[in-house]
Parts: sequence; C-alpha cells; structure tokens
Amino acid sequence: MSAIRRRPTATVHVGGVPVGSAAPVVVQSMTNTDTADIEGTVRQVAALWRAGSQIVRVTVNNEESARAVPHIVEFLRMRGVEVPIVGDFHYNGHLLLHKYPDAARALAKYRINPGNVGAKRHDENFAAIIDRAMEFGKPVRIGVNWGSLDQALLTEMMDANARSFAPLDAKEVMLNAMTESAMRSAAAAERLGLPHDRIILSAKVSGVQDLVAVYRKLAPLSDYPLHLGLTEAGMGTKGIVSSAAGLSILLQEGIGDTIRVSLTPKPGGDRTEEVHVAQQILQSLEIRSFSPQVTSCPGCGRTTSTYFQQLAESIQNYLRDQMPVWRETHPGVEEMKVAVMGCVVNGPGESKHANLGISLPGTFEEPKAPVYIDGEHAITLKGDHIAQEFQQILEEYVAS
Ligand code: SF4
Repeated sequence: MSAIRRRPTATVHVGGVPVGSAAPVVVQSMTNTDTADIEGTVRQVAALWRAGSQIVRVTVNNEESARAVPHIVEFLRMRGVEVPIVGDFHYNGHLLLHKYPDAARALAKYRINPGNVGAKRHDENFAAIIDRAMEFGKPVRIGVNWGSLDQALLTEMMDANARSFAPLDAKEVMLNAMTESAMRSAAAAERLGLPHDRIILSAKVSGVQDLVAVYRKLAPLSDYPLHLGLTEAGMGTKGIVSSAAGLSILLQEGIGDTIRVSLTPKPGGDRTEEVHVAQQILQSLEIRSFSPQVTSCPGCGRTTSTYFQQLAESIQNYLRDQMPVWRETHPGVEEMKVAVMGCVVNGPGESKHANLGISLPGTFEEPKAPVYIDGEHAITLKGDHIAQEFQQILEEYVAS
C-alpha cells in the first residue's frame, strides 16, 4: 500500500481493536438512535459493523441509556457482532459510570469531553471518570471539541495572550486552547494512575483549515494515538468533500490512527454511509483496502446511452455486496481493481492497469467490448448481453 510514514504512537487496545501507528488506521462510527432503545441501537450497531465500522460509539446521556448499555453489548455478542462499544459521556459521565457499574464494565472505552465535565467540580468529576476507567481496565478518549471548549482554560489563555507582547489572533488562541485542554487532561489522567497506553486524543473542529491546523499542533506534543474527524461536517456532498479534504491532508502527513466521518444523514437516511466514506478516504489514499475498486470514466458524448453508467454502477454494487463473503473466502480480493470504461479512447489503456477491464462500445463505436484480464486482451464481448457476460468473467476471476 502507500509509503506514508505514520506518526509513531503508543498502541491503545479498544476491546480487541488495536489503535495506534503499529496497527492499520481504524474506521469508527457512532449511532444516532436513542441508546435506551435497545433493539433499535443493536440493529444500527450491527449495520455499522457489517458495513465495516471497527468501533461504534453510542451516547450515554441519561440513566435509561446507561441501563441499556450492558443489554446492548450482550445482544450484540449473542448475534455474533463483535464490535467494541464506546460510551460518549457529557456532563454526567462521572455519575452514570459510578451508578451503573455494569455499563462501565460493558463499554470498551469512555469518551470524555474535558469541556463538559462540569465547570465547578471539573477536576473531581474528571477524576471520577478516570477512576472507573482504571477500575475496569478501560481506555479513554479525551475528545476536545471547539463547540464545547473548557471555558475556564480558554479565558485563562485569552487573558495571557492579551498581556503578551505579540498577541496571537483569537482563532489561534482557541486552537492552542484545544491542544492545551487535551494535553492537560491526558497529563491529569496519567497523574491519577491511568496508564499511558490507555489514552487517545482528539480535537475536533468543523472547518477544514482549522482541523488541519489543530492536529498539526497536537501531533508533535505526545505519542498518544489520535482520533480524527471533522465535527459537524454537514450533509451530502458538503460533508463528504469537507471530511475527505481535511482528513486526507492529515492522513497523508501520517497523522491519525482512527477516523470517523460525521455526516448528517438525510431523514431516514442510511447511517452506514459514513462508514463507506471513511473507508473510501483510506482506500483512495492507498492507506487501506476494503473493497475492489471500480475505475470508470466520466462518460462523454460518446456514451449518450445510460448503458455504460448502469454497468459501472451494477459492478460497483455487486462487488460491495459480495465483500462480506469474499473477505472470508477470498483474502486479498479487496486489492482488486476493475476498470469500466465508456469507449475505446482510454479504455484499453486504463484497462491494462486493472486486474479486469472492459471498454464498452460508445454510442458511435461498433458494438464490441474488449475485455482485459491482468493487462492482456482476453476476449471481445459482442451483442446484447455484454454486462452479464462481464459479470460472469468477474466471478470466475475472483473464484480463480
Ligand atoms: Fe468519453 Fe471514451 Fe473518454 Fe469515457 S473513455 S470519457 S466514453 S472518450
């Protein structure tokens, strides 16, 4: 795969999933169900896991959700869904983790937002959460978010900046406050006794340039693994492109050991999209392989029928649908490349770089579709069943 040099980190075990530079970059996601709805949450976690999410976070925001957590974990286990469940705590995590030890035990990691552990008894509440993590041997993610930054710390740093001879602009101070919050909290957790290799950090913002800036500041300060994500990335194209832009820059620099793409789903939309997008970011950067890749041209005036688009889409969907089985039966198949090209202009050239390639007859071409296998012209398909015949060749190639 790629020659990207990862930032060296400790390895943190989240359930059975290692997170850190010695392990592949981990894809994770988060449910949007009411965690108290055990059946609905189990269903969504299972779907996210099937899509490829290696860690799933659930919100634990009240007593009902804390009570539900051990049941969710148990139901998942009974259904063979082996994915670590992380509890997302804000404001009352110290209370819930102590009142519901079964939840504290069942979770694979606790996410703590240092800005949301309570202003008045910040240190005490923070210590109570770390206490539980030590008691049950769990790692924590210290997840700073600029929407809920520790206000006391921000004020302290703004005041110091105002008194300095060369004050920074307010945005810079805020990004510095985020890294300071993460580092101070991690140091506090270690002082309380949490082992170094049980801490992951994140510092999420919603703008691409700020994301890159804050992680570039955070990365050299420690060897804690870093979780990346553009928070509140948004909907549809905006969310996907912004996440890909921000995460790709950092991943290319070797920064990031686990990622989440936080997309706002359409009402009733499929939550698994964020997993597929995260996987595609890693695969496009050649950091990891999850599914065979289909290279297809954009089409042009030579492909005025929808035949070419339909074939490209059907091959992509077919490959994705087969992956859960193929991953077990045909290891390495995720590295496969398939080229579906609209005509012979670029088709043969592109096809030769793929394991399997086809150049469809463009509108003005003869109805002939040369097929290439491992760079060699193997056969030319003709007639009305080119799509079916190519799918057959694809199946035989994978089987072989
Ligand atoms: Fe157009 Fe052919 Fe190029 Fe596709 S390969 S964009 S159909 S010229």
